[in-house]
Amino acid sequence: MNKLAIETKKILKEYDIRLNKRLGQHYLISDTKRQKILSYADLKDDDIILEIGPGIGTLTIPLASQANKVIAIEKDKKIATILKDRLKDYKNVELIIGDALKIEFPYFNKIVSNLPYKISSPITFKLLEYDFDFGILMYQREFAERMIAKPGTKDYSRLSVTLYFMANIEILDYIPRSAFLPPPKVDSAIVKLTPKGKINGTFERTCRALFQHKRKKARKALIESFHEISSNADPREIVDLINPKLLEKRVFTLTPEEILEISNEFKKIIA
Ligand code: SAH
Repeated sequence: MNKLAIETKKILKEYDIRLNKRLGQHYLISDTKRQKILSYADLKDDDIILEIGPGIGTLTIPLASQANKVIAIEKDKKIATILKDRLKDYKNVELIIGDALKIEFPYFNKIVSNLPYKISSPITFKLLEYDFDFGILMYQREFAERMIAKPGTKDYSRLSVTLYFMANIEILDYIPRSAFLPPPKVDSAIVKLTPKGKINGTFERTCRALFQHKRKKARKALIESFHEISSNADPREIVDLINPKLLEKRVFTLTPEEILEISNEFKKIIA
């Protein structure tokens, strides 16, 4: 067993902690993967790092030694007590005890986190409301693959389309389940997320309507779920104003650009 695994087990035993799967508590115990994550973060001494779900500080402590400041948000009070003890010599960590989904983030320029997987989607969209250089984030492998899936593939989804315009996303490495304590049911991926742009509400609603019927033709999908886009227009009349070539395609084969074209037409007609 490597040093990090031994140390993690010792700390959890000392504080009599049983990890809570509902909070996504799978603690990293591979020192090699930790080194990789830290090197991808390309830490500079003026970096202000946001970390969501620091746990017992496996990433927090090395982050604090290399960056200017770390803001760590942990929901579990008991775990936060351990972290506080371990951080007493680090004056540059601001530990916030609370739910990262409910708290407004202070200024940060990078985010580095082994995220609680249950909140992968809402936390990613929340992050993308902020301006930052990039994030090095761990997600479940399947989720990461859906984030970057291309049109026509089985993983292509509403998530892939909405993120396409919002961020550059790259899978840098995979982490086997054995690198965590306790091991989760699935493997993980290290993702680099670089913010790119914003999307508008009509585009978001068009994606929602379309992907409720991923295998159907776009025309049918849009008509059946038109209530997602607008409630006071006749779906058939409006849908017929869209480029018919696009309406004939199956939803999962539409490119993000084509979906944007459809939603821009809606915006012109409905707004
Ligand atoms: N970064 C640590 C721990 C990862 S496990 C490591 O790599 O070892 C995820 C952590 O997120 C747990 O400590 C869990 O308590 C915390 N957590 C779960 N939901 C959260 C939320 N909504 N906001 C903040 N922290 C949360």
